Amino acid sequence: MRPGPGPDGPDGARADESDQVIWCDSCDRQVGEEELTEDGACPDCGADLLGRRPIPLSFKLMGIATVIYLIWRLYQLVEWLIHHFAAHHGR
Ligand SMILES: [Zn+2]
Repeated sequence: MRPGPGPDGPDGARADESDQVIWCDSCDRQVGEEELTEDGACPDCGADLLGRRPIPLSFKLMGIATVIYLIWRLYQLVEWLIHHFAAHHGR
């Protein structure tokens, strides 16, 4: 006689909050990394979830820094252009 649908463990209610949580679109729920199968697939629907690991924070910060740097350079370029043309055309 089986108490639940799963072979082991009742659903959820675990205290450990790992930040390595992957979202499964098919099941429309979060899947903890320790819940994944050996292949890195969703335990419920079998979808491959390892390709959708959350982006590391360092990667995000690097992207933000790059964007800010590019905007800064663009701003400098525009300012330089304005001054450049003002110097040549103004009197
Ligand atoms: Zn799933």
